[in-house]
Amino acid sequence: MDYREVVSVYEELDKTTKRLEKTRILSDFLKKVPKNDLQEIIYLMEGRIFPQKDERKIGFSFRYMIKAISVSSGESFEKIEKLFNKKGDLGLVAEEVMKNKKQKTLHSKKLIVKDVVDNIRKLATLEGKGTVDKKVGLVTELLGNGDNLEDKYVVKTVLENLRVGVSEGIVRDAIASAFNVSSDEVEKAGDYTADYGEVAVLAKDKKLKKVGLKPGRPFKLMLALPAENPEAIFKDLGKLVQFEYKLDGFRMTIHFDGKNYNLFTRRLENVTMQFPDVISIVKKHVKGKSYIIDCEAVGYDVKSKKYLPFQNISQRIKRKYHIEEMAKKFPVELNVFDVIYHNGKNLMEKSLRERREILEGMIKEEKREIVLTKKLITDDGKEVQKFFNNALENSMEGLMAKNYEGPYTPGRYVKGWMKLKNVLEPLDVAIVKAYWGEGKRANMLTSYGVAISKDGDLKEIGKVSTGIKEKDAPLTYWKMTQLLKPLILKTKGKEVEVKPKIVIEIAYEEIQKSPTSSSGWSTRFPRCLRLREDKSVKEISTIEDVKRIHDLQKKK
Ligand code: AMP
Repeated sequence: MDYREVVSVYEELDKTTKRLEKTRILSDFLKKVPKNDLQEIIYLMEGRIFPQKDERKIGFSFRYMIKAISVSSGESFEKIEKLFNKKGDLGLVAEEVMKNKKQKTLHSKKLIVKDVVDNIRKLATLEGKGTVDKKVGLVTELLGNGDNLEDKYVVKTVLENLRVGVSEGIVRDAIASAFNVSSDEVEKAGDYTADYGEVAVLAKDKKLKKVGLKPGRPFKLMLALPAENPEAIFKDLGKLVQFEYKLDGFRMTIHFDGKNYNLFTRRLENVTMQFPDVISIVKKHVKGKSYIIDCEAVGYDVKSKKYLPFQNISQRIKRKYHIEEMAKKFPVELNVFDVIYHNGKNLMEKSLRERREILEGMIKEEKREIVLTKKLITDDGKEVQKFFNNALENSMEGLMAKNYEGPYTPGRYVKGWMKLKNVLEPLDVAIVKAYWGEGKRANMLTSYGVAISKDGDLKEIGKVSTGIKEKDAPLTYWKMTQLLKPLILKTKGKEVEVKPKIVIEIAYEEIQKSPTSSSGWSTRFPRCLRLREDKSVKEISTIEDVKRIHDLQKKK
């Protein structure tokens, strides 16, 4: 399929803000897409090149892009940079300067979807010497072949900044309407595969009903809504609730298909390679011909055996080298709380009561290797309060509350699980600005402008400058600078605007109204607690969370 057709749809989608209209545009288009291109077209419409669960990153910086645009347009690097500072979007810059391409390649050929996807995918896989030139070459080739509108969207896609307003819900509904199936069915297949590209092809082939859980393939995990107090929990979850300690580690699902083991994080990254120690533990301690179990991996100190906060072990997640050494230095204990698949059977529809019973029959507990989460099944608010206090005394984040008779509901924030945290729960915020330090910190970004989300848009809620250390801490200014520098979009004196990618957790004394911040709120004495590498910008705290905490604070 010609890339031009995709671009026309982008332009049409960009012209409307109406959800139904966007769904119709996308659905009409999907009906026309040949099966061979369908999977990739879905990714392109979502503004990506790989499925969401694929951990490969395109990793092409703004500077490389300025270079590529400069080479293919014949305009100077400085001119492109200047235009970028003015417009703030390199896609728009490309659209403008490519109108009068000075160096139209002699053999330019029509852009087809496959070539666009192939070239951009290569950006994520190339490694080693001379890589930068090769990468710039791949993008320049695409820009040379496209017209100026195609170039606009190639640039936006490579920079992962498409922004034509296609949400996951729109993709789901468009697939349903294009192939005459129900949105529920599409959503369910989306939960099981975490890949709407794959789902679209299955829907076209009328094979949606055949999709099920498969060990080795990540699926969307069940998530928890916040609760104010035990009464609210009983109101929402029913009479009988299972409470568990909320541990401060990271979510891990462990898949065993009878032969191979696979480990996935909450964001569905495959971390099998990084945790050989976990595989040894489950081989010894978990029974089953095949299974998928859900747990929290919690780090502990080698000597004292005491639990460590998440940030101490977070560095293991992305490690590529010295893995065995890291496993010895930062061991984890698996705290298992659910089983979703066992001996060839999908257990999602079964109640927690039934799932937990199966789980208890599968796990041979051994402290600091693998244990079942502590549980309290009750309908009594007073007992919950006692259990909650115990949890806090034991340095837990609070409690998880789970509907004892409820199923495992993947992917959505539904009232099946709730979390009860200590009051004034921390906020997860996205860094949208940063500020260069002074004196010996002049080459480091030392404070950060942070934002919450309001209907999907980012709104600022203040500036954080404490909680990060000079050295010898998991989170140093240097580390923050390394993370943020490649994301810089614009510079204004000491302030830089950054692409919102980094999520941090902040604590504070109080939430207050603020007429000067774009969210209308600010926090008093905010301090950074940790990086939330397991959360994407889509999952940050919302304006509703802030209002809820504000109301709660008033009641105290
Ligand atoms: P939050 O990250 O605040 O949205 O809380 C949900 C997360 O708590 C889950 O994704 C798990 O990683 C973690 N967690 C800790 N203890 C438990 C538990 N007992 N049951 C389920 N999730 C837990």
